[in-house]
Amino acid sequence: MSDIDGRAVAKALRQEVGEAAERLRGAGVVPTLAVVVPTDDEGTAWYVRSIAKTADKLGLRCRIEHLTDPGRDEIVAKLQELSADPQIHGIICQTPLPEGVQLSELGGHIHPGKDIDGANPQSLGRLAAGLRTWAPATAAAVLELLHRRGVPLSGARAVVVGRSTVVGKPAALLLLAESATVTVCHSRTKDLASVCREADVLVAAVGRAGMIGAEFVGPGATVIDVGTNPTPDGGLVGDVDYEAVAPIAGAITPVPGGVGPVTTMLLLRNTVEAAELANT
Ligand code: NAP
Repeated sequence: MSDIDGRAVAKALRQEVGEAAERLRGAGVVPTLAVVVPTDDEGTAWYVRSIAKTADKLGLRCRIEHLTDPGRDEIVAKLQELSADPQIHGIICQTPLPEGVQLSELGGHIHPGKDIDGANPQSLGRLAAGLRTWAPATAAAVLELLHRRGVPLSGARAVVVGRSTVVGKPAALLLLAESATVTVCHSRTKDLASVCREADVLVAAVGRAGMIGAEFVGPGATVIDVGTNPTPDGGLVGDVDYEAVAPIAGAITPVPGGVGPVTTMLLLRNTVEAAELANT
């Protein structure tokens, strides 16, 4: 078994994104990401600050739009304002959202040309139709890790555990686009372990610490752990029981240090792409 090092992939992406941002700045365009933060959640604030710091180092601009205790209409108005602002190239809306507000509904108010985290249902529709679009960055990070590791996908059996709009579904669509044979599992799936054991590529996106144990993994499988579950001591663990699975898997992403750092870099790469597209 060996780790798939998300931090190393993120480092390679940093270099590429930095160079692309520099080219754009040379042409008088500063690629700019707007992050709408409709929460006072401290973890979210920390994550957004870390995106802004990385953006700054790479020559992008990051505008943080913090909204205090907003209602649905206030968030929608902010997304519309940013969508109409020619200085803004990419827009994301952070979670958690206020009670009763759905990201899939808000996403419809992000201009598709600025929807660099695939939150607009139009983007998911385009992904399903095989048209050019940005997939949600976490799902795209799964594929980025597999590609950079050289994992063969055409004809491979891929199992995705989780069917959310932000991770499971788009990850399954991206794998299908690579001609993998894809099975999507969820909370009603019967005999989940035996379905997962058939996988050449297993993607866990559930949100349950250590749920994927040794009995879920076939020998030599590639395991991508999307889960980020907080521990009581302030740490983070994945959905995969790393200690139990690592000896069986052919390759595995650790948590932290797997999908997370790549996701952040893809948000910035997509912002640069959006700026390029807006200025050609
Ligand atoms: P979500 O919306 O809660 O979806 C969880 C999915 O897991 C659902 O489809 C659910 O099935 C399924 N599920 C729940 N319990 C199950 C069980 N016992 N057996 C099989 N399937 C089960 O979560 P999400 O937003 O997709 O996030 C998933 C995980 O990824 C979380 O840990 C989240 O923190 C993490 N995440 C990480 C990143 C990153 O950048 N690394 C980004 C986003 C999310 P049903 O549909 O049947 O309910």
